[in-house]
Formats: sequence, structure tokens, C-alpha cells
Amino acid sequence: MTKEQKKAYRPTQELRELLGTLNHEKFVLDCGHYLTFNEVLGNNLIIYNGTELRFICTECGY
Ligand SMILES: [Zn+2]
Repeated sequence: MTKEQKKAYRPTQELRELLGTLNHEKFVLDCGHYLTFNEVLGNNLIIYNGTELRFICTECGY
């Protein structure tokens, strides 16, 4: 990857801040399990990348 290409990538903190808008929002995942963002001991989330994102909890992802 060239220096110019690397500049296109934003730091993880910016992703964290974007997802911060989902604070305490509740969702049913593609695997059928439930997710509440920013909940201690709540389900963890795997995002499968692609033209359409898929959202699976870690229990179903491995
Ligand atoms: Zn699941």
C-alpha cells in the first residue's frame, strides 16, 4: 500500500465515534440473536464485510 493509499484510511477512534451514535440502541442480528450497544456483558458483534454487510453475534460466528 502506498503512502497516498494509506492516507485514505481513518483511525479506529473515528469508527468508534461513528458507532457511538448507536449507544444503547437494540437490534436483532442476522443470526436471530439480540444486541444492545454499549451494554456490559451483552453480545459481541461480528461484521462480515462485502457489498451487503452481515451482522452476526460471536456465539454464531465461530
Ligand atoms: Zn447469534
